[in-house]
Amino acid sequence: MNETVDPVDSLVASLIDAMPEPVLVVDAGVRLVAANGPARAMFPHIRLKAPLASTLRAVDLHDAIARVLESGQAEDVSWLDRVPVERLFQVHVAGFQSATARFVALHLHDATESRRLEKARVDFVANASHELRTPLASLLGFIETLQGPARGDAQARDRFLAIMLEQARRMARLVDDLLSLSRIEQNLHVQPKAAVDLAPLAQHVCDALAPLAMESRVRIEIEAPTTIVRGERDELLRVAENLIENAIKYSAPDLDQPERKVLVQVGAREGMGFLSVRDEGPGIAPENIPRLTERFYRVDVGQSRAKGGTGLGLALAKHILARHRGRLGIQSALGRGSAFTAFIPLIDRNDR
Ligand code: ADP
Repeated sequence: MNETVDPVDSLVASLIDAMPEPVLVVDAGVRLVAANGPARAMFPHIRLKAPLASTLRAVDLHDAIARVLESGQAEDVSWLDRVPVERLFQVHVAGFQSATARFVALHLHDATESRRLEKARVDFVANASHELRTPLASLLGFIETLQGPARGDAQARDRFLAIMLEQARRMARLVDDLLSLSRIEQNLHVQPKAAVDLAPLAQHVCDALAPLAMESRVRIEIEAPTTIVRGERDELLRVAENLIENAIKYSAPDLDQPERKVLVQVGAREGMGFLSVRDEGPGIAPENIPRLTERFYRVDVGQSRAKGGTGLGLALAKHILARHRGRLGIQSALGRGSAFTAFIPLIDRNDR
């Protein structure tokens, strides 16, 4: 027997040590009598034999322990621990009896991540619905106008039809991006294995975007030696399109400003292939940079919409690169332009 009044026997201590999630055991005086490895790792400051209240600030938990000691009925409670970082626990509080004393075991399940995922899912559905509702409302409005007040007005009809076409295209782009995102998420754990040369891929995208660049008074320069990476061509094409199109759209000069340049470079650095797109646009404030790859996040919603953006391009790029075991680098400062770089693993000799 050790010095505690009502020691939990060593079998209980060994049993909770075999459990993967944090477990704490208190005696009838709510003093901590056992804590397994995960519990000690999660709460390094807890001390055996000390009153639980002196080390864990958790009123809800202490109330539940008191009730369980009183009634003998097990309970499940939520506990939001705010220090050092916010964590949500689902705690199963259950009493048990040794030959001489009563105890309460607290089994803690960390629900922080599942709550975050649930919130992200709810926000995503709300955002996607909102993004679709705006063009849909505009389409419905024009259809009603064409059926009613503007019936027979040929000039109005042509103008409205042009707007309707643009709104319908916006919805199509949005649905397209959403489907691509979900397909890539489903395959996130399968790394693509084909050999893809980034040089012709970058050239192809620059050629396809030449009319937009010309219209936007942006000159595209490209430096692209052969660079063979491991990937899936269509997905990497999507990344290059998003980055180069963004650079053109968001760096396009005003009419009174001189033409600007977008530099597209392909190459290899630190064992990775890269495709980097540098523009001379207004740049991005540091606080916005980490949020750019969030779904539907835009620095300026009006500007993004006016340029046909869905707010999903960089989220897609990030997911595609994660699937390729690569990453997206963003460097930007207000007034100094932006550089977006996609890093993709080079193919090694054994792969060819
Ligand atoms: P969008 O469809 O709005 O372009 P993206 O996910 O591609 O969506 O980009 C998210 C936001 O990042 C854009 O709305 C814009 O505010 C900002 N952004 C992206 N590329 C650039 C860039 N080259 N220069 C400045 N801002 C940019």
